[in-house]
This record gives sequence, structure tokens and C-alpha cells, in this order.
Amino acid sequence: LGRLSGKRAFVTAAGQGIGRAAALAMAREGAQVFATDINGDALQTLAGDGLQTHLLDVRDKAAVADMAAKIGAVDILFNCAGFVAHGTILDCDEDQWAFSVDLNMTAMYRVTRAFLPAMLAHGGGSIINMSSVASSIIAAPNRFVYAATKAAVIGMTKAIAADFITQGIRCNAICPGTIDSPSLAQRMTDLGGGDYEKGRAAFMTRQPMGRLGTPEEIANLVVYLGSDDSSLTTGAAHVIDGGWSNT
Ligand code: NAD
Repeated sequence: LGRLSGKRAFVTAAGQGIGRAAALAMAREGAQVFATDINGDALQTLAGDGLQTHLLDVRDKAAVADMAAKIGAVDILFNCAGFVAHGTILDCDEDQWAFSVDLNMTAMYRVTRAFLPAMLAHGGGSIINMSSVASSIIAAPNRFVYAATKAAVIGMTKAIAADFITQGIRCNAICPGTIDSPSLAQRMTDLGGGDYEKGRAAFMTRQPMGRLGTPEEIANLVVYLGSDDSSLTTGAAHVIDGGWSNT
């Protein structure tokens, strides 16, 4: 039996990167996984045993409510959707601020609020929220609105964990360092001011292990937090950054 056998798991942003690796890992561990993303082409490549895919834009309030009604109670809710905006406060106009707040924070509130009542009625479950080590944990240059929203994710996680601790709900945040996902190449180019090699070199100087993390390494933590192996952990920000924040 897999470690998630008999569990139902819902994942946002499962089309690529960490969300995808987590959806695949949870299915391998025996969960019935509902993998969602805004990108239908990416989802099409995700078929497999125990995996069901659905188009979902987490910024669409009505679509989120419909999806929660359709799927019902889940044991694991992995809120993975998020966007890494580049720049300082001076680069972040009100539209960019509103976009990152909506996708990284409000959508997580919206999805959780839609799914939580059925989880409570079903006796509990594990909510896993995607934060980042670039949040309230450490500062990274040019991550102004990103850090603000990812710090808020930690606050939201702790509040939910405290409010529902006696009702079988655990809620944890995961705080990765730099993970080699499809969107990273663009961010390397942005960090290098348009120069990919320069940006990649800058990313590598902050990797104490001398390498980037992989989506599969983060997926291992998602499986653990979704499983009963982690029954004593809630309200925690789980750093998984190859030692970046320790240097
Ligand atoms: P990614 O950025 O390569 O892919 C993001 C996915 O999100 C895509 O499949 C995209 O289609 C989907 N998406 C975008 N907008 C959406 C929406 N409105 N509704 C539903 N899906 C949407 O993947 P990644 O780099 O693995 O990042 C995933 C999460 O992990 C993000 O929240 C990110 O902030 C966080 N994170 C990433 C890193 C990293 O270094 N890669 C580090 C820490 C945290």
C-alpha cells in the first residue's frame, strides 16, 4: 500500500514544475489526485493511474466554487499556484501588486474557503500551502511583492492551523529555495537584466549545495505533509532550500 492510499488529493497549478511533480508523486503513493491548472495543454500530458485533470483558473471565483462543489471532500489540499514577480517596490505598480496579491494570496484564501467545509464535514485533512523561503524567512533581492505575498501565506497557514486544530485539520506551509522548474529560466534571464548566463550565475552563487533543488524533492515533502506520517505537524513553515537560508 502507498503512503497515501485511500486519500483524495486536490492540487492547483499541477501542469508543470512543483505542482506537477507533487500530483505525480501523490498518485504514485496511492492517492486519487485531482490535478488542476489554467494550462490545458500542460494538463493533457499528465494522464496516469489515479490522476484526473481539470482546467481551473484559481483567480476565477465562480470556477473555484464549482470545482469544490463537483469534487467534494478531499483529504489533501495542495495550494501550489503562484507567480514570481521580479523587482523592487519601485518596479511594482498597483496593477502588478494587485495581480500578485490575487494569484499568490487571495486565490489561496478562495480555494481553501471553498474546500474546507467539506473537509471538516468529512472529519479533517491536510492543507499544504506554497510559500517560499523568500518571504518572512529571508530576503532575496528584487522579490518585493513576491516576498510580501509569500509571507502572507505563512500567516494565513498559521491562522487556519490554529482555528481548526481540534477539528482534524492540519495546515502547513512549504518554503522552497530555488527549484529548477520551467519558469525558472525566465527568472534567470530577468535577474541577469536580460542576460540568461549572468542571471544563472547569480542564482548559483546563492546555492550552498552548488546545485538547484528539483521539483521531485519538494514533492517528497508534499507527500509527507499529506500523509499520516506527519500527524504531529501543523501551523509550521517547512523550509526546504538546500541550506540557502542557513548561510
Ligand atoms: P511554474 O512557475 O513553472 O508553473 C506555474 C504553474 O502555475 C503553471 O503550470 C501555470 O499554468 C500555473 N498557473 C498560473 N496561473 C494560474 C492560475 N491563475 N490558475 C491555475 N494555475 C495557474 O512552477 P513552479 O516554479 O514549480 O512554482 C509553483 C509554485 O511554487 C509557485 O507558487 C511558486 O511561487 C512556488 N515556488 C517556486 C520556487 C522555484 O524556485 N521554482 C521556489 C519557491 C516557491
